Amino acid sequence: MSAKVRRPVLRRCVACRSLQDRQLLWRLIRQADGSIVLDLGMGRSAYLCRDRACLEEAKRRKRLQRSLRAQIADSIIATLDARLEGSDAATAKAR
Ligand SMILES: [Zn+2]
Repeated sequence: MSAKVRRPVLRRCVACRSLQDRQLLWRLIRQADGSIVLDLGMGRSAYLCRDRACLEEAKRRKRLQRSLRAQIADSIIATLDARLEGSDAATAKAR
């Protein structure tokens, strides 16, 4: 009855360009000092699906670098890789 249905905040993935609920995406933020952080921070943001294909596409075409106009440290990509592998492992265990 009341209009309290929470609408998802949509953001566009830099790799596949689809709009997704922000909570389903990874967020990379370029902070004021130029460093890149994941998930939390203030500054220019880029969003990426939690998906192997989108991570690979972003890596190959340097989508995150272009979107943020900054260098992305290998450690950031490695962290996302590890998260994907973590979720894969969790899925495998659940089977
Ligand atoms: Zn995507």
